[in-house]
Parts: sequence; C-alpha cells; structure tokens
Amino acid sequence: MKYADVIVDISHENVDRPFEYMIPEELEQEICCGSQVIIPFGKGNRRINGFVTDIRKEPLYDPARLKQIEGIVPGSKTIESRMIELASFIRTNYGSTMNRALKIVLPVKKNSAPVVERYIVASEEDQKLEDALLRYEKDKRTVAKYRLVKEIAREKILPYEIVRDKLNISPSTIKSLEKEGLVRVDVRENLRSAISVKEKAPYTIRLNAAQKAAADSIWSRYEGNDLRPSLIRGVTGSGKTEIYIDLIDRMIQKGKQAIVLIPEIALTYQTVLRFYKKFGDRISVIHSRLTPAQKHDQLEKARRKDVDIIIGPRSALFTPFPDLGIIIIDEEHEGTYKNETAPCYHSREVAVKLAELSGGIVVMGSATPSVESYYKAQKGLYELYCLNERAKGASLPLAEILDLRKEMASGNRSIISRRLDELIRDRLRKREQVMLFINRRAYQSFVSCRSCGTPVQCPHCDVSLKYHNNGRLICHYCGYEQPMVSVCPSCGSRYIGTFGAGTQKVEEEVKNLYPDAVTLRMDTDTTKEKGGHEKILSAFANHEADILIGTQMIVKGHDFPDVTLVGILAADISLYSGTYQAAEKTFQLLTQASGRAGRGTRTGQVVIQTYSPDNYAIRAGASQDYQAFYDYEMSYRKLLGYPPSMNMLGIHAASEDMALLDRACDRISAMIDQMIEKGLDAVKIGPSAAPIARIQDQYRKVIYIKSGQYEDLTLIKDRTEELADSMPGRKIQITFDFSLNVN
Ligand code: ADP
Ligand code: ZN
Ligand code: ZN
Repeated sequence: MKYADVIVDISHENVDRPFEYMIPEELEQEICCGSQVIIPFGKGNRRINGFVTDIRKEPLYDPARLKQIEGIVPGSKTIESRMIELASFIRTNYGSTMNRALKIVLPVKKNSAPVVERYIVASEEDQKLEDALLRYEKDKRTVAKYRLVKEIAREKILPYEIVRDKLNISPSTIKSLEKEGLVRVDVRENLRSAISVKEKAPYTIRLNAAQKAAADSIWSRYEGNDLRPSLIRGVTGSGKTEIYIDLIDRMIQKGKQAIVLIPEIALTYQTVLRFYKKFGDRISVIHSRLTPAQKHDQLEKARRKDVDIIIGPRSALFTPFPDLGIIIIDEEHEGTYKNETAPCYHSREVAVKLAELSGGIVVMGSATPSVESYYKAQKGLYELYCLNERAKGASLPLAEILDLRKEMASGNRSIISRRLDELIRDRLRKREQVMLFINRRAYQSFVSCRSCGTPVQCPHCDVSLKYHNNGRLICHYCGYEQPMVSVCPSCGSRYIGTFGAGTQKVEEEVKNLYPDAVTLRMDTDTTKEKGGHEKILSAFANHEADILIGTQMIVKGHDFPDVTLVGILAADISLYSGTYQAAEKTFQLLTQASGRAGRGTRTGQVVIQTYSPDNYAIRAGASQDYQAFYDYEMSYRKLLGYPPSMNMLGIHAASEDMALLDRACDRISAMIDQMIEKGLDAVKIGPSAAPIARIQDQYRKVIYIKSGQYEDLTLIKDRTEELADSMPGRKIQITFDFSLNVN
C-alpha cells in the first residue's frame, strides 16, 4: 500500500497542510506527483478534486483512519500538475523537502486591487516636440525632460512604469511635461483609443542571414519535434536578442506563450523597449521591486492569457502559462540563474525540465556560454548555433594585454598604465567615451605581490589563499592556514598586500589625472538608491559624462555607441577567486567588458592590465576566442575531475554554534569516508571553511564530493539528510549544491 499527500487548494499557504490519503492498488501505477485526483473530503465526504504532492510507502498517520483516493480526474494536464511535477524534480535533484520546492514553484496568493496600467502618450505634433527638444538640449537642468521627450517623439507611446523605472524619469518631470501640454498620461482602458497601434513606431529590424539561419533552424527543429535545447553562442552585439524576438513572435502566432529570463541587472530600458516595441501590451515585466500582490497580479494575467510574454529574473520561470511554447535564457552563463538558498536549483536545468513537461523548447544565448552548457552542446544534448559577427557590421574591438609587472618595474605605480593613459587622453580629445572596469568584489581578499604579481598560494591546492580579517591567510579548499606574509614568497619583494584600490580610489586618481573630464562611478555604493543603476547608465548613454568607472555592473545591458575605449584595470583578480570556475569567470568578464567597446560606428579598443599576461583565460579573453578558452579549460577540468567532467555535490553546513558545526561536519565526513571505504566511487574534499566563513552570524563549512556516478551523490545526500535529522536540536542547516555532468 502507498500513501499520498493531497492538497485541495493550490496555494502557498496550503502547501504546509496536505491531507494524507491511501492510494488504492489499482491506481498505484497511474498516480504520481502532480496527479489531479478525486477524494472524499471533510465530515460529509464531499467529492472534491485535489493534487498529489507527495507519495510514500509509510503512512504518517494511523492507516486505519485514512480515506482512499477515489479516482483520477480525466482530461489533459493542468498547469498545477505541471508545477507540482516540477517541484518534485527540484526536490529530487537539488535536495529539498517537497514543501520548500512547492513554495518555489507555486505563486503566493494575495488579493490586491487591480493594477492600473498607465501609459505616457505624445499629445503634441512632432514639430512641437522637436522645438521643445531644442530648448531642453541647451539647459543642464532639463536633461531628464530632454530624455523623455526624445523617446516619446520617436515611440509616441510608452508604459509609465518603464519610463519611470527604466528610463529613470521622476513623476514630477512627467507632471511638468504634462502641464506644458507635451505629453499626457492615459490609463490602460484607453490604450487603443488613445493611440492606434498603427501610429506606434513600427518595428523595423529584419534578421540578417546569420540570424535568420539560426532562427529558421530552431523553428524547423521545433516543428519537426526535435525539442532539444538550443544554445546560441554569439559575440556581443551579434543580434541574439533579435533571434529571441523572432522566435517568440512565431510562438505567439501559434497561440503559445513565452518566458524570457534575464539576469536582473541586464534589464535595462533599451532591452525592455525593444520587446515593448515589438509586442506592445502583450508583455509583462517582473522585477524584484514588485510587491507580492503585484507579482501575483502579473502571474494571474499570464494564467488568463492576458499577456503572452513574461520577462524577468529567475522566478519568472514559474509563470503559470497554460501553453508555454518557449523559454529564453539570455546571458545563460550568469551566476544569478542559480538559486543561492536551498534548494539551490539552476534555472537552466529547471527550464529544460519545464519545457519538457510543457512540450516547449528552451533557447539560450551568450557570448561566453558556461562551460557546462557548451559541454552539453559538444555532446549533442544541446544544438549549437554560432554568430561570429556583430549585427550592425561594427567590428569587434582590438584588445591589447598590458603587463603590469613591467609597468611596476619601470617605476609607474599608478592604477593607470602609461599606455592606457595615452589612449584615455586621446579619447577625451576626440570627445569619445571611456569605461574603466575594476573587479572590486574580490579585491580585498586576495594577497599578491605588486612586483611579480604572484598571488600567495596554498601549498596543497591550486588556489590562492584568502586574507581573513584576523590577519591570517586561509585555503578554502583544504583548510590550510598561515600568517599573513610580509615578503613575496616567490621573488622576495616587499611590495605585497591585499589588492589595491576600490572604485572610489580609482575615481580619485582619475579625477586627478584628467581634471577636465566628467566622471561617473557605478558600484554598490552609488547604486543603493532605487533606480540608481539606470540613472547612471542612462546618464552615461546620454553622454553626460566622459568616463564611467565601475565594477562588473557596467559590463551588462546598455549599448553605448560613443564608448571607444574600455580599460580593465586588473584582470587577474577574478582568476584567484579560489573556485574551480575562476578562469571561466575571468574569461567571461573580460569578453563581456571588452564587448562594451565600439558598439557604434567606430572600432573600439580595449586595454587589459594584468599581472598574468600569459594566462590562457586572459589571452583568450583578449582575442575573444571562446573555443580556445573552452578547450584549455575543459582539459584542466578533466584532469582535476571538476564539473562538467565529473558530478560534484557540495554539502554546505551552517550554524551559529561553531563547535556544534565542527562536530556535525566531522560526523558527516566520517560517514562519507565509510561509504567510500565500502566501495562507493567518490572523492571527498573537506570539511573546510566556506569561502565566506560567516554570514549573518552563521558559521559555514563545506564538504565537496566528486563522483562519476550521479546516483552515488544522491545517495550521499540522502544519508546526510538522515544523519542531520538525527542530530540533537537540529541547529544545523544543511543545503546541497549539485553540479551535474551529462555522461
Ligand atoms: P546581442 O543580444 O547579441 O548582444 P542585440 O540583439 O542586442 O545583440 O543586437 C545588437 C545591436 O544590433 C542592437 O542595437 C540591435 O538593435 C542591432 N541589430 C540586431 N540585429 C539587427 C539586424 N538584423 N538589423 C539591424 N540591426 C540589428
Ligand atoms: Zn589548500
Ligand atoms: Zn613577487
């Protein structure tokens, strides 16, 4: 006999209170997680429908008092069934309870007043708008008005929220333009009467040959029922977004819906506008600033097919579209696609599963695909499409590698090398724009020699030691520790220290060197306020500054046609981040950052300052040679048994009590050792301190297990869960992090 958990009303709140039922033998084969079943319910045994969320062999309650499931609801699969199946997939593959998995896939129910959709509409003739533009252009105080009127003159109508949040125009500016009679704000009901669709600026882009070949092939594979995911590797600016738009358009014409996943940071005005231009009010945008009620509203619209396209970050994947046809994953290599809290699901893998359940397809794109995805493409699990040229014919930027060791040896201790300085001055003279990119996140924590560039390495592992605030250097892989060094172990130089400057210091230096240039700085400090990102990016795109200095935030999103020079101040930093993906991250950053240069008609130039000019990730990043990078990287991962050549499971344990944490990890570790002794084919690394050893007063440790067999890892996961459950007090949180291979 088997037992099922059944929930009768699909909502977040009810997930915690399932009802247990017996599964009659004749239904055992047919019932699975997600099945919609008929059950007798309540005192009067009313017949109602419910969904099976879990199946087990042992009952939780006294079986004598359990009722039986009566039957399965006939007919096609509901959205709910699909979502529950998806939750079951997440539970099995990422180590989670069904409850938590269900809460991820099911929407929070919140009643809210319907959101009024407002639009900003041009209310004057083109000529009047042009006149206003001439006026605003001259006055520094009217840059925001200039920006909006320019857009509205071109588009005629724009969604209010996009203008406010993405174009970063304040409501008071909009009001004041309303008063001047140049624009008016209309609510949604008036949309079609306010302005006919014909008057909206037409969408004019036609796919070029390379784009069309890819789109046609993906489409004909779909129609021929080859539903394997597609991976588009296309250089920055090659027009991947246009391919997405084209495919979505075809899907909509077939009555299907689309989900577009983007890393949140890339959701700029320009991107949203392109989708809006093409699809108008058929799209809806989800972002992290929506309240739960607003978000629920958007999802309801999707369920009712009031919209056909949802654009948003990770969570947009769980939009309840009835006939989902396509899931786009833009910038598929981005780290934000992985959920950081348990269950640590990867959106890419969940998307592939969801598409499979819905009979749809997944199309992902990147200039620098993740090693995982490219590996799958090489194995034929994904179909690969390559776009090697920029859509507008602009050529890829020329990159030069600048050796900071030589710079140092010749007496220049500035953050800016002489070569980069020369090029910056040249650009400022020509009134072109410059972006300076630094990677501050990893800045403070690794220690390297300023003379020879060698980072201080762990003697037992191929990673750099991390500097901790207690003044010690620690290896995050094996736990090795030593005091901070005062001379370079490799050349004896005394110029050693945690790596240089943050964005602020760079800005100071830039202002000193180029007092006449206007600078903008973009980092976590300057983007704290709401819309901070957009404010800075829009201002820079509008040429309100000459030099933009920033962290990785600046490498995404906007097109800056006047940027002809990108300086990467210290390319090494992400190389020594202490994870096996370090080289991959470095290559991605360099390629993406370089891709910012020369988007307009002039060819861009890139200067990569580095202490490791011969490193393969830096060389391949400079030449934008993905294949060369991949080949080298993959051979390294095979050699060391890292994903995707092997499966890897990270067991992350956290507790406020350090001693308790140590004991728990030792017990888990001993148990795994035992399993390995008994013949399990796996390698264990750790336990050691997590890369960030304490977060919010929780101490964190990690154990890694590598194995050729995925099942061995799930077995270890299950045993670890059992062991953790048996530990007193349960004051340890354990999460599992799987990286799968595909053999
Ligand atoms: P990617 O997504 O690969 O970075 P985009 O789709 O953003 O590239 O395209 C880069 C630029 O080229 C955009 O400004 C886009 O409007 C333009 N573009 C793309 N495809 C075409 C095309 N077929 N014809 C004209 N312009 C295009
Ligand atoms: Zn080590
Ligand atoms: Zn040295």
